[in-house]
Amino acid sequence: MKNIELDVILQAIPSLSYVDTKRLNNTVKLKLDSDVVGKVIADREDCVSECPHCNELEFIKHGVTAKGIQRYKCKSCSKTFCSLTETPLYRMRKEDKWLEYISMMWEGVALRKIAKVLNINLRTAFFWRHRFLQMPDKNKPTSFTGIIEADEAFLPESFKGKRVMPREPRKRGGGKVPLVPILISYQRGDRFSYEVMKKNTKENLSNAISPLLTEGCCLCTDGNLSYKSIVKELNVNLDHKRIIAQDGRVIDGVYHIQHVNGFISLWKEWLDRFRGVGTAYLSRYLAWYIWMQDKSYGEEDRWLREAVQS
Ligand SMILES: [Zn+2]
Repeated sequence: MKNIELDVILQAIPSLSYVDTKRLNNTVKLKLDSDVVGKVIADREDCVSECPHCNELEFIKHGVTAKGIQRYKCKSCSKTFCSLTETPLYRMRKEDKWLEYISMMWEGVALRKIAKVLNINLRTAFFWRHRFLQMPDKNKPTSFTGIIEADEAFLPESFKGKRVMPREPRKRGGGKVPLVPILISYQRGDRFSYEVMKKNTKENLSNAISPLLTEGCCLCTDGNLSYKSIVKELNVNLDHKRIIAQDGRVIDGVYHIQHVNGFISLWKEWLDRFRGVGTAYLSRYLAWYIWMQDKSYGEEDRWLREAVQS
């Protein structure tokens, strides 16, 4: 709303009767309760603590954008910014459609269908998906304790979503599509972590898993000898249980990798609906899936709220 319209309303309030003011109050309350996106954006203003350009703490209010979003001017570098600068929601338009979009994203609705239902173009639908995906990706656990399960998943390499193919396309029937290895790990009772690796090498596997392992933890893996070697070379005192049999064996009633294996098959099944995800975006789709496991359907505003947290 333009400030001039708001001024007209504000100027009219003193002349309203008590009954009309009460009526206005109820309308305002209803509007405040239903405008979830507006509240997320307004609440974000309380979190703005520094200039995103130079990180200085001194800034002043500097009007509002056409959409009523607070703008600021840094006292140090003189640059301006708004409360959504450097959040995934920066410069995103059509905020009245965000919640419905997230809801459909949650259900795994295909982009083309989302674009049609919301009457937005396909490029916008794609752009939004990757904006909203930025948030779950930043919440990845970085270290684990206790019993940890780890295993690799493999998916065919894909350049979907990329404008330029980094290599010559394969001729029909000519050679197999390389598989991309992904380490999935899980701390019992906590959350899943993941790392999309470039190649299936011991070095890559070590780089992916070593930072997660802490003193006194117990790592459960399959019989892959790379894990044995990684644990041996690692300067951390930990226990390693290798589950060698293929039939989902359990050692001492607790040591197994069934949670991770179950996760991998459910995630792959869920991924099928997107009919192939570009390798470059796999980690975001993993993050998204893990994030959804933690939440319940209907928490779309929570998604937005976490997206704007610094
Ligand atoms: Zn600044």
